[in-house]
Amino acid sequence: MTRHLDPGFTEADEAFRSELRAFIEAELDPAVRDAVGRGASVTKAQHQAWQRKLAAKGWLAPNWPKEYGGAGWNSVRRFIFDEETALMDTPRGNVPAIDLVGPLICTFGTEEQKARLLPGILSSEDWWCQGFSEPGAGSDLASLRTRGLRDGDDWIVTGTKLWTSHAQNANWMFALVRTSEHPKKQGGISYLVFPMDSPGVSVTPIITLGGVHAVNQVFLDEVRVPGANLIGAEGDAWRMTGYVLGLERLVGAGIGHSQRLLKHLRDVLKTGPLAEDRAFRDRVAALHTDVLALKYTAHRVLAAEMAGEPAGTVVSVLKLKGAAVQQDLAEAIMEAAGPVAAVSPRAEPLDLPADEDALLWTATTYLDRRKLSIYGGSSEIQRNIIARRILKI
Ligand SMILES: Cc1cc2nc3c(=O)[nH]c(=O)nc-3n(C[C@H](O)[C@H](O)[C@H](O)COP(=O)(O)OP(=O)(O)OC[C@H]3O[C@@H](n4cnc5c(N)ncnc54)[C@H](O)[C@@H]3O)c2cc1C
Repeated sequence: MTRHLDPGFTEADEAFRSELRAFIEAELDPAVRDAVGRGASVTKAQHQAWQRKLAAKGWLAPNWPKEYGGAGWNSVRRFIFDEETALMDTPRGNVPAIDLVGPLICTFGTEEQKARLLPGILSSEDWWCQGFSEPGAGSDLASLRTRGLRDGDDWIVTGTKLWTSHAQNANWMFALVRTSEHPKKQGGISYLVFPMDSPGVSVTPIITLGGVHAVNQVFLDEVRVPGANLIGAEGDAWRMTGYVLGLERLVGAGIGHSQRLLKHLRDVLKTGPLAEDRAFRDRVAALHTDVLALKYTAHRVLAAEMAGEPAGTVVSVLKLKGAAVQQDLAEAIMEAAGPVAAVSPRAEPLDLPADEDALLWTATTYLDRRKLSIYGGSSEIQRNIIARRILKI
């Protein structure tokens, strides 16, 4: 992989980057952009409005083939899209639908399932949540215990899913369900999809450290799922999950997000109490170097991928460092902002100058970034993978 250093951005790629920037500038509601930039909440309706603009342009589903309404982009275009949309503070939309279950259905679904389930994602009518994790089955996902028992053509599903993002707004779930006994715990797991208003589904909110309602616990009590809602072959979900997660190799690095946080740090530093502090400025320079190192490592992976080589375990390095760099930047922003960063945005409205008002969500963002080293494979799990597969220890 080290032989490939230049991802080979062509003139057409750079023209695409400019077109994308102009599109966001012209089409994204400035109030929504401002909210995303501050780390404030964005409503489902605001996410949907932006998704519909992307869909009209054919850009909503970067990982789907064109024949099913996707963008049909190569890895370079997807990288540019991820980088620029993060840099320009666009809302992320319904990631479980667009990046996970959509590609899953495109690849493993029947023609009937594609015709029935994909249009609702592209029109933003349908909002999906991902039911993988359970109590006692997060990092060790294959230990999941939610069961599906056969009843004629249907499945009767019972269990509980935990940390389910979007469940409070979703009308569909795609879930990993144990449908048969198998000598290996990764075997016997199937993909079932069902509407969230099915009898037996209930959602309990979980408020996270940042005071945000983003995750939930979902209880499944004898939920009847028609046989037509099994995606792919029964018991084959583990292999299919590996395929779908593999489509998102570079997203964990969060290059655009780190670059945006770095810019924000520099802006905050200009007017904050540490503006002239030499030691702090050295720290900002070191963070800048980290962001550049991350970016060039991602370019290296992208170049290898374009040359037809699998990205391999270096993806774990990107995920590990990508999370750490964003968390370090969020912490530095807290310090650079000074005492105003500790003021909660949920308190009574305060009469603050505009530059201080803009900092009110700083603590929320800082706390929210803690999740980066947990989901998508925790930092400890990434270190285990690096130790075993790269360092061979
Ligand atoms: C904000 C957020 C959103 C999420 N959204 C979703 C979602 O939409 N759908 C979904 O299914 N899941 C979701 N998750 C769940 C996420 O995938 C899990 O939290 C993650 O896999 C970790 O599992 P766990 O929480 O059970 O922690 P555990 O696996 O119990 O880990 C606890 C601690 O032990 C460490 N650890 C575990 N195993 C090892 C090991 N072998 N070696 C060394 N250290 C280890 C971990 O790194 C961690 O620090 C979300 C999580 C968060 C934080």
